[in-house]
Amino acid sequence: KGERLIVASHNTGKVREIGALLRPFGIDAVSAGDLGLPEPEETGATFEENAELKARAAATRAKLPALADDSGLCVDALDGAPGIYSARWAGPDRNFKRAMLAVEAQCKANGAERPHAYFVCVLSIAWPDGSATSFRGEAHGRLVFPGRGVRGFGYDPIFLPDGRGATYGEMDPDLKHSISHRADAFRKLTAAFA
Ligand code: IMP
Repeated sequence: KGERLIVASHNTGKVREIGALLRPFGIDAVSAGDLGLPEPEETGATFEENAELKARAAATRAKLPALADDSGLCVDALDGAPGIYSARWAGPDRNFKRAMLAVEAQCKANGAERPHAYFVCVLSIAWPDGSATSFRGEAHGRLVFPGRGVRGFGYDPIFLPDGRGATYGEMDPDLKHSISHRADAFRKLTAAFA
């Protein structure tokens, strides 16, 4: 209670979402952007490496614990792509329509009409001494083409979670947030601290 923790992200949406998740624990979340911390380059080869390098860079510099996440969509028929490059597939103008069309074209070229896919979210917490621990959440489902729904962001319209009739793009955001890869990772993190 009363602890300050850095949310090591310059994405205001992410900072708000993680800040809201931490509030019930009495933790005061401050963003890396507000502290003027630089954004490290994501040079890791895995979600864990990228989340840890972001958390560690903030924690060691500001001498406060820091939480970072890295996430993306993995498609089995594409050997796990776009994976850690999920944001980059949308290009500098963050055009996710184009990214979803690229996923569709490559799946169809591989003969996969309704491919199995999963979202990953890795949350890493790092301490001022540079040590870090990661928690991986996943949400499994299938891709549907064309995408459906205008809610959510990124690849939400093409992702149909297992056991549901609505894509993430069609779903009530509260329902998505309760079953998502991010919720799964957060549950593991809070269970570890409890
Ligand atoms: P990050 O900021 O490097 O973690 O990039 C994550 C990227 O993965 C985002 O830009 C989205 O393209 C994608 N992504 C992650 N989580 C979701 C989600 O819940 N819905 C849709 N796309 C997501």
